[in-house]
Amino acid sequence: MSNNAAVFSAADLALLARGEGPLKTLQPPVRLAIFGDPVAHSASPSMQNAALKVRGLEAQYVRIRVTPEELPDALRNLAPAGFVGVSLTIPHKQSSLPLMDEISREAHLMGAINTVKVVEGKLHGYNTDGPGLSAAIREEFGIPLKDLRVLILGGAGGAGRAITVQCALEGCPSITIANRNPAKGQSVASEIHQSLGKEVSSLSLEAENLRTSLSSVDLIINATPLGMKSGDPSPLPHQSGGLLSPHHLVYDTVYSGGETALLWQARGMGARCASGFSMLLHQGVLQNALWFAEPAPVETMRATLATPRG
Ligand code: NAP
Repeated sequence: MSNNAAVFSAADLALLARGEGPLKTLQPPVRLAIFGDPVAHSASPSMQNAALKVRGLEAQYVRIRVTPEELPDALRNLAPAGFVGVSLTIPHKQSSLPLMDEISREAHLMGAINTVKVVEGKLHGYNTDGPGLSAAIREEFGIPLKDLRVLILGGAGGAGRAITVQCALEGCPSITIANRNPAKGQSVASEIHQSLGKEVSSLSLEAENLRTSLSSVDLIINATPLGMKSGDPSPLPHQSGGLLSPHHLVYDTVYSGGETALLWQARGMGARCASGFSMLLHQGVLQNALWFAEPAPVETMRATLATPRG
């Protein structure tokens, strides 16, 4: 049976690499995992185990709590433990870059890895957060990301940068980052301009700046953590939130359950809204497709997110 709720340790993985320990006793055998700290909240095991079952594979996906200090050894243990790959989440997406043997162009530009595939004993790093967001936007709003003028709140964070790079790779007609620390936003904008030749505007998250920007964008994406905790305010200050209108599309990458303050605010102004479950789904679908080099069972994986705490 799949261990969708258990949390294993980096020490358990080290034992498995030697053919011993609790992971060795599991059936079907463990071939995939998510590394993170914390990792107990992750919805990925339910989603990926459902896909493995539909594929008819004798393999399972588990949670492994890996601290930053443990990451290099944990990655080195993947090949001897017989792994197909792993998902990486906080705090490993950036620090894993120098630990890969090969990195996809997208992951390099995004400065982060969320997917590792073991290929002939070597570690190949990818990022499916940006492409996952793109698939989610098309699915939720029926419009390709490439046709939209986009404002990314928290665009200099991990997910925000991946999304900003994705917008640049797809050639969105305009891209604006609004970041709490505007110097970090400016630095991401300059890097993207240097590497891809695409103009990215950068603002602070202040109401006055956002007011001007909101009148000339189609899609607003929240890539800050605001909304993860109940009672969190909207990342759009109240004065600028009032400028949302029915022509706006608002996507909140947060997927913690209830409606976030941003989506509540946006729905009240008649904007079309969607939460981060679809990005979570599609980044996972793309991971699964990378590991098995064929399309993943999307609907099976989607069904598990109806009860995401599994
Ligand atoms: P991160 O790397 O820590 O980045 C956080 C970003 O949010 C930074 O730009 C930061 O600004 C900003 N920020 C943090 N606290 C803020 C506050 N109180 N007010 C305004 N801005 C604030 O985090 P991350 O890993 O990118 O995660 C960000 C969000 O993306 C989370 O909600 C996460 O759930 C979501 N996410 C969703 C998916 C999905 O599949 N749906 C996938 C990945 C991430 P500074 O630069 O000024 O610090």
